[in-house]
Amino acid sequence: MTAGPEVIQLIMELRGQGITDTDVLSAIEKVPRDRFVPEAFRERAFENIALPIAQGQTISQPYIVAYMTQALQVGRRMKVLEIGTGSGYQAAVLAQLCRRVYTIDRYRTLVQEAERRFAELGLSNITTRIGDGMKGWPEQAPFDRIMVTAAGTEIPQALIDQLGPEGVLVAPVGHSAGDQSLVRLRRTGDGIQREELIGVRFVPLVPGLAQDATGP
Ligand code: SAH
Repeated sequence: MTAGPEVIQLIMELRGQGITDTDVLSAIEKVPRDRFVPEAFRERAFENIALPIAQGQTISQPYIVAYMTQALQVGRRMKVLEIGTGSGYQAAVLAQLCRRVYTIDRYRTLVQEAERRFAELGLSNITTRIGDGMKGWPEQAPFDRIMVTAAGTEIPQALIDQLGPEGVLVAPVGHSAGDQSLVRLRRTGDGIQREELIGVRFVPLVPGLAQDATGP
């Protein structure tokens, strides 16, 4: 499949913003973001902006998806856990770069919609689960990489515990929407290293299962 002009434009913009990892850029180029946004926003799918999805959630800005994916340093043979499936877009991007993606959301309908998209796009290396991602996915742990796409006041200990040796975790952390930063943890022989990367704005990480709202 050849990428349309609006995709090429987006990739150039991401390069200009400092996304240099060519594997990440080609993953973004391959995943049709228009298939992950609501019908009403389809024309704006390749703009470098966050967009609303169902259940009051958002699909992140492509720059943030690219930045977090690059920061995660994903390798071909890795097993990756994502918390916050949302539309499924970030999981689809990760699936281009690793062996298998495990993704969890607390909304049943979001998970079902994302699964339908993965099937339509022939993405067979993504496993989904409806549940509280703050507890991780103990049956599948350890993970080489973990990405959290909703902001908590701290990184849930269960996720840190499920990070394998040399594992890397990237998560937005903050107390309010205007005061979040992206944090990267790395498990080393000497313990957990912590780095703060950039300022971000994510929907909150909320414990427990969600009650799906019906309608738009
Ligand atoms: N990665 C998504 C965007 C995520 S928006 C994409 O590419 O479209 C954040 C998502 O995190 C929402 O769908 C929200 O329901 C989910 N979320 C928030 N708290 C959660 C929790 N405790 N467990 C699982 N999912 C959670």
